[in-house]
Amino acid sequence: MGLLAAGTPLTWYDSRRYNEHVKTEGTEQLLQVMKAAANRDHDPLYWGDEVEYMLMEIDDTNCNTMLDVIDDKIITDLNTDDYQLCKDNNVEIHPEYGRFMVEATPGGPYHGLTNGHFVESNMVERRKIIDWKLNQYARRLSKGKRLSVLTMTSFPRLGASGKFLNIENQWDHKNSASRSLFLPDETINRHVRFPTLTANIRVRRGEKVCINLPMYKDKFTPEYDTSIHDREWFTPEDLESKLASKKGHVYLDAMGFGMGSACLQMTFQAPNIEKSRFLYDSLVNFAPIMLAVSAAAPAFKGWLVDQDVRWNVISGGVDCRTPFERSTEPILPKYNKNGLGGVSEEEQSKLQRIPKSRYSCVDLFLGGKNKHFNRTYNDTEVPINDKVLNRLLENDIFPFDYDLAKHFAHLFIRDPIAIYEESINQDNMTSTNHFENIQSTNWQTLRFKVPNQKAIPSNKSAPGWRIEFRPLDVQITDFENAAYANFIFLISEAILTLGENLNPYLKMSQVWENMHKAHSMDAIVKEKFYWKDSFTTETSSTSLLSINEIFHNNESGIFATFINPILMYRGLVNKEWQELQVSPNYQRLYYYLKVISDRASGKTVSVARFIRNFIISHPDYKQDSQVSELINYDLSLMFERLTNLDNANDEITALFGHSTAEYLTTTKLNK
Ligand code: ADP
Ligand code: MG
Ligand code: MG
Ligand code: MG
Ligand code: MG
Ligand code: MG
Repeated sequence: MGLLAAGTPLTWYDSRRYNEHVKTEGTEQLLQVMKAAANRDHDPLYWGDEVEYMLMEIDDTNCNTMLDVIDDKIITDLNTDDYQLCKDNNVEIHPEYGRFMVEATPGGPYHGLTNGHFVESNMVERRKIIDWKLNQYARRLSKGKRLSVLTMTSFPRLGASGKFLNIENQWDHKNSASRSLFLPDETINRHVRFPTLTANIRVRRGEKVCINLPMYKDKFTPEYDTSIHDREWFTPEDLESKLASKKGHVYLDAMGFGMGSACLQMTFQAPNIEKSRFLYDSLVNFAPIMLAVSAAAPAFKGWLVDQDVRWNVISGGVDCRTPFERSTEPILPKYNKNGLGGVSEEEQSKLQRIPKSRYSCVDLFLGGKNKHFNRTYNDTEVPINDKVLNRLLENDIFPFDYDLAKHFAHLFIRDPIAIYEESINQDNMTSTNHFENIQSTNWQTLRFKVPNQKAIPSNKSAPGWRIEFRPLDVQITDFENAAYANFIFLISEAILTLGENLNPYLKMSQVWENMHKAHSMDAIVKEKFYWKDSFTTETSSTSLLSINEIFHNNESGIFATFINPILMYRGLVNKEWQELQVSPNYQRLYYYLKVISDRASGKTVSVARFIRNFIISHPDYKQDSQVSELINYDLSLMFERLTNLDNANDEITALFGHSTAEYLTTTKLNK
């Protein structure tokens, strides 16, 4: 997917009459896909990553860094005029939610470990191309201003008072899509899909979305979020904020705070559907653990917060559930009758209570024929769409087994939030449009990616069964992003190689708890997470372990159980990953593993802690948890230096430790 399809997405009130249609037809499309692709086998371990970038305008005269919402044509340009350049460099450019965002992936997937640094080379290439194009646009700027592309998970001043976008007069007109007190609609991708998603989520819910993040408490931190102000543009939305915000919390009220943050994702193809289910189940508990180890988001809306990651911000930012579904009272009962939001009258009696947002941790293990799975591991409350479940189980196209049917029947409790007028009628034998409408707006920590009807066993040109790993905050440097990507790749390859010699299962309720813990400040060194006592016995018993133990213990640690065995199996080491340090071809892989090992052991700090330390030790910081324009500007300059592996201020050393810094600054990446 490069450019978005043209078309007219319907507003909530026009689209909701088609909700049932989309679900019914989407279910039929899924059945056709299963019929075509269920028997695929021996697909290679293709994989790829996705990196999300932020475009920024840096004003060196006034010492302010703003998000660039002018140059989003970069996505069109790199997919048209400069398409060949991208193609020649195996780069693909995608749109994202934020108008200031770009997503980039390899043009074609990688196969296996490649030479250990191919992924990073590709990431470097992507950034170079984006940077090259931005430099062309930058010619319009007056002296002292420039454009920059950075991988920052959350832009600390998105939505803060003052100037955080590179446009004038952003508040001289209304922001009717989000109705946020803080984010103008110019933060949203211009393609009509995105403002429509934003508005439809709000209208279905019957209220603005609402995220209260605990404030980081410092000496002069105020008791309340002082940025909430009165306004009389929208009723009832403008009346909600004071009631919805909580003491001691930073209050966010728009999808853009979440979808406007950046992440790193990886997709892996398994040989067949059984193995992809097993890979999925095995990665379930890696998601919260790796989220904690990737933590890179300590500040939102101009405030330091008492948490380190973006996840719950997006989760809340796209939470379309009505108050009834969330089992809470509406903020303003007068405007949100019985807490039923924008749900149509006919549908109201069918509503169920739904414990989690459509953007959340995985809900169900997929099970399958592997000998370790049993249903008691799925021990949380997970509502399902009974109609979809029954159809998947009983039909003459492709009868599902219960556990896989339940997974999809759960996804199908969600309504479509953007239906295109032109796409209402689809041919279920060839299209997966309705199915993907529901599937791709269920944003979980993992996605079980389904092929299409063309993916019959003999057609190897169509992608097969894939698992997407989605929890990670994006890292500052290509080096780190490549490190995390390769790390998850090795774990996935280990899982596929060891197969049922591994028993990955624990209780889903413990995974949910881990997800919660992964948010806390300095979780890497302060929290304990549920982790299996053994992956090689039938036990499902877990213990609460520190991240250091989870990575480094001998019995069930990630290095001992997954990384060392797969490196030995590949013949790259005799016993331990540390041997790679002297490997002629895989030395860089050693540093990838080391960067993660060092963070997990607490030898070096997380990106979130690194940013937090930068902010609280900045001369302009007033111990009030606020991130000023000057601090934000200096932070972005530091990001630039790190991105360029410039160690003039010893920042590479501070982030990675001496030996990695020495390696990074003296070793050129071979392509
Ligand atoms: P989405 O946004 O839906 O996750 P993208 O196209 O942005 O999809 O990213 C998909 C990722 O999967 C890319 O990194 C791409 O290289 C990779 N990929 C493409 N084909 C395959 C395949 N057959 N198996 C595994 N990964 C693949
Ligand atoms: Mg993508
Ligand atoms: Mg996205
Ligand atoms: Mg993306
Ligand atoms: Mg993705
Ligand atoms: Mg996507």
